[in-house]
Amino acid sequence: MRTIGLLGGTFNPIHLGHLRMAQELAETLNLNEVRFIPSANPPHKPAPDISAEHRAAMVQLAIAHNPLFTFDNRELRRTGASYTIDTLQSIRNELGADVSLVLFMGSDAFTKFHTWHRWQEIINLCHIALVQRPLASKEPLPKILDTFLHNHYSENTQDLHETSAGFVTMQAITPLEISSTAIRNALQNKRSARYLTPQCVLDYIEQHQLNY
Ligand code: ATP
Repeated sequence: MRTIGLLGGTFNPIHLGHLRMAQELAETLNLNEVRFIPSANPPHKPAPDISAEHRAAMVQLAIAHNPLFTFDNRELRRTGASYTIDTLQSIRNELGADVSLVLFMGSDAFTKFHTWHRWQEIINLCHIALVQRPLASKEPLPKILDTFLHNHYSENTQDLHETSAGFVTMQAITPLEISSTAIRNALQNKRSARYLTPQCVLDYIEQHQLNY
């Protein structure tokens, strides 16, 4: 079955941690495509100072030369909070039931998954691929998420190709402790963010005088 990875994020800005995670998951999970989906109004973060249009433009520049990577602007076209459940439903309506969708999530994001809007319905629409972030909290997961993991966990990546939704997998990737926060901090302190994000992203920030 055609299998598509989905990476949603604030991308404020996109960085090599995002890109490398997407590349490695595409290869280990044998994906046909990875879609980058910038969030217009992230429900779990303070509103970003940088507009959704600028954040999306940086994503497009960063992924431009990778034939596996595609850009999806549906959250930018909606008003109100950018809920993942709505995005998944909309992708399903478009692609139908016979496509496997794999939602990527860093371990930091997963620890709060049970607070997401209609979170228990998400697994009916996609699989979830979890990756460890190096500095993520080592606190035990809330019981409800532990049970969720237990109920959906699969070690067999073939499951992601044979069914369109319903499994959670955990994948080891090269740990890169890069975050958008660290890049914003560097820029605010007039330090360089070179080698944390592609040069085209830094050029865009400079050309548009984005005020990080
Ligand atoms: P911020 O520092 O502003 O909170 P961020 O760097 O975490 O941002 P997001 O756009 O919020 O970036 O991340 C989107 C998704 O990518 C999340 O699931 C997050 O866990 C994951 N992610 C971000 N950076 C990395 C990284 N270095 N390694 C693995 N996953 C990452």
